[in-house]
Amino acid sequence: MKYTTILWDADNTLLDFGYSMRMALQAAFVHFGMDDFLDDEKIMAYDKINNSWWKRLELGEVTKAELLNGRFVDFFRMYGINDVKPEMYREVFQVELGRHYSYIPGSKEVCQALQGKVKQYVITNGVTATQHSKLSASGFSDIMDGIFISEQIGVNKPGKGFFDAVFAQIPEKDLSKILVVGDSLTSDIKGANNAGVDACWFNPDGRSAGEEYRIIADIQRLEQLFDMLKMEK
Ligand SMILES: [Mg+2]
Repeated sequence: MKYTTILWDADNTLLDFGYSMRMALQAAFVHFGMDDFLDDEKIMAYDKINNSWWKRLELGEVTKAELLNGRFVDFFRMYGINDVKPEMYREVFQVELGRHYSYIPGSKEVCQALQGKVKQYVITNGVTATQHSKLSASGFSDIMDGIFISEQIGVNKPGKGFFDAVFAQIPEKDLSKILVVGDSLTSDIKGANNAGVDACWFNPDGRSAGEEYRIIADIQRLEQLFDMLKMEK
């Protein structure tokens, strides 16, 4: 096998972020007595706002702290919510986000099967407490050889500084033996490209990537990683 080390993205690669988000949004609204507020349209509106904040974070236009509150400031403004403070809602939401999880199909089985064959680490831009809670509850903390969270490192994916900090802390020093697996072109694939390691795009919807990305494998199901790893023997 060519690779000794796999760096896994967490949200929407191992765990279904949309599920956690919907559950956490609803639980937080229930907490503030707004049990009937949330519906599909509002979830989609929040998702859009949240994604635009994360893109701006990846581009270095905003800080993590600005993102964590700003998305709820925007969302509450859109729906005229004045009774709940965005920062208070955020605190409840963040705790709930770490409590609810759902697996991307095959993720746990694939990671378990690779245990002992390669070193596996999670690389994520999420919030430290939330990610630890979710990865621990879902069992990934026990499977992984380590978890790297941008908030602790001080640089977000796709920043080269994030990957350099990871490389400094893992045993493999030959970058050609490290593979990044993730769903995001702008943070995982671009990050791997910046850092000089191979990138496998988890692309369940079969989208097409821009020419600017170097992708050595485009997979629709995580199980395809087995074939890919064998191919590299
Ligand atoms: Mg992701």
